[in-house]
Amino acid sequence: MRYSYCLFDLDGTLFDYDKAESAAIQKTFQDHNVKYSDSYLLEYRSINKQIWLDYESGLITQDELKTERFRRLLEATGEVADPGKFGVAYLKNLSQERALLPGVIPIIELLSENSIKMYLITNGLKDVQRERLAGSGIKKYFIDVFISEEIGAAKPDKRIFDESFRRMGFPEKAEVLLIGDSLSSDIAGGCSYEIDTCWFNPNCINNNSDFKPKYTIKDIAELQKILNL
Ligand SMILES: [Mg+2]
Repeated sequence: MRYSYCLFDLDGTLFDYDKAESAAIQKTFQDHNVKYSDSYLLEYRSINKQIWLDYESGLITQDELKTERFRRLLEATGEVADPGKFGVAYLKNLSQERALLPGVIPIIELLSENSIKMYLITNGLKDVQRERLAGSGIKKYFIDVFISEEIGAAKPDKRIFDESFRRMGFPEKAEVLLIGDSLSSDIAGGCSYEIDTCWFNPNCINNNSDFKPKYTIKDIAELQKILNL
């Protein structure tokens, strides 16, 4: 079996999202001369997780969440600042964070040398993702980038896969491999779309979900073997 198309998730698979988020939050507090404590990052992560669930349930729009998550964070930490300005500054700071995870460049180069057609499929905000990608040095290897905010549907929703496949020129599903770190968005989406999935699981988390990836890898370099390169 040889895959000729690789559909990559971006954050947590190629980009070091934890590092990016942490740096951007800290810088946003500094920009506004508001005291920062390490516990604020954990608080933010918990608020942000809940607010994306609220968004997925239709309780809040994507535009509203940009400010609302900082209104909640400032309230929880007792710091005083304008949440709207925090929201704007945070996205600007996040868009400047482009750290890649270890081993990404060599494997992407290897796939490119072997004419594997590579695409990105990401749940995220278009301005942030496009800006980060532009400065990352890996954009040139990808034929197209599918961003949930632009498409109007997020993984695991079938509609983002339909639109991605249309823009890829309707490849055979058997030729496509999806690589991602999230069971609930990447692996769930790929399984229900009936394409093979590769779960990037560097921290060796147990899979207690209903979604079973075809492959599980700890190191991105393992793709070489899966693709028979
Ligand atoms: Mg991810």
